[in-house]
Amino acid sequence: MALYLEIPGREKINLSKMVLDLNGTLTTDGKLQPSTAALLNEVSGILTLYIMTADTLGTAARMHKEVKAIIKTISGDNTSFHKAEFVRSLGADEVIAVGNGDNDAEMLRLSAIGIAVLGQEGCSARAMLSADIVVNDINDVFNMILKPQRLIATLRK
Ligand SMILES: [Mg+2]
Repeated sequence: MALYLEIPGREKINLSKMVLDLNGTLTTDGKLQPSTAALLNEVSGILTLYIMTADTLGTAARMHKEVKAIIKTISGDNTSFHKAEFVRSLGADEVIAVGNGDNDAEMLRLSAIGIAVLGQEGCSARAMLSADIVVNDINDVFNMILKPQRLIATLRK
């Protein structure tokens, strides 16, 4: 299970993991769209998926049955640090990270590929500036994995 990418002008990338922020990235107002759940489960056949959350809205607990992902609940004040540390522990050069919040900026910067999601909750400017790609909608992220030519065309030098 992996996605090997040869992007002109960049180092070759072998992605094996995706780390996703939950609130505002995967969900809107704490709700996961059925289309997003379906795409996520499809991508779980290509990458190991991790969902990272402080679970402000109590959403993660309800999601276990719906999604083929490992849910990592983080606590404490410095969520930015914990998210970045988790990505490091997985091996940042094999990770594609996805987030919308200011506390996602560091993991987006560290990862082989960082994607900032605007969504309906908006995206922190710092997260956007730390990302390689900005998308409108979370479903765009999963479709990029399923159709990697999109990723390559966006990132080629
Ligand atoms: Mg968020």
